[in-house]
Amino acid sequence: MLDSSKPTLALELNAAWSNQSALQVLESALVRFGEDKLAFVSSFGAESAVLLSLAARINPTLKIIFIETGFHFDETQRYAEQLIDRLGLTQVVRASVDPITRKRIDPDQRLHRVNPDLCCHIRKVDVLHRSLKGLNAWVSGQKRYQNDTRAHVEVVEFDPERDCFKINPIAHWTAQRIEAYFKRHSLPRHPLIASGYSSIGCWPCTSPINAGESIRDGRWRGQTKTECGLHRRVMPLHGTML
Ligand code: SF4
Repeated sequence: MLDSSKPTLALELNAAWSNQSALQVLESALVRFGEDKLAFVSSFGAESAVLLSLAARINPTLKIIFIETGFHFDETQRYAEQLIDRLGLTQVVRASVDPITRKRIDPDQRLHRVNPDLCCHIRKVDVLHRSLKGLNAWVSGQKRYQNDTRAHVEVVEFDPERDCFKINPIAHWTAQRIEAYFKRHSLPRHPLIASGYSSIGCWPCTSPINAGESIRDGRWRGQTKTECGLHRRVMPLHGTML
């Protein structure tokens, strides 16, 4: 593929695929980018079952990358095993920080308290970057309704940091539609939802939400940080990093 044409191609594919169903978008992406050159990225969090179910309905052997930060709740680990078993996923790859880097930068594992951006960078951003090397595209479960920074997520984007296309097949889904999908497909819920958690990441940086808060308000509570950096985006028309 020509590097200079990738952002333009992303715009063209987005225009062509935006009105397709999530399954059609995924099938188109697999044909366009190649089954062995595309990976789903999942946190096995509160709504992850929807994207994983869509993947499994197409082909349960598709590659799923689970970024293992070392700080997942025990409930998330058990839920991941439950979903993998329930959906029959056969290629879930746990990707984690290189231990030498972790020891050098965060020897006492307290970096999240003093520099959460750097902690997210070594445990998530850099890990994803390495995991996507050699691939053409990755698939994310981002939705526009989740918060302001995701309000303009497109179905197809170009991710310049990883030189990859990024597919967001359920970008336009609403909370109601997610809920309906869970029910229709009898998908199990993350066990922490019953305790008031609506968006679930690493335990040191995740808390339940209160009435009236939006679903990601429990992440990095009390900080200005709202995203880990995996989904930093370039606005196609302005070249602005979000
Ligand atoms: S969410 Fe918190 S613990 Fe997890 S990688 Fe980011 S700063 Fe570190």
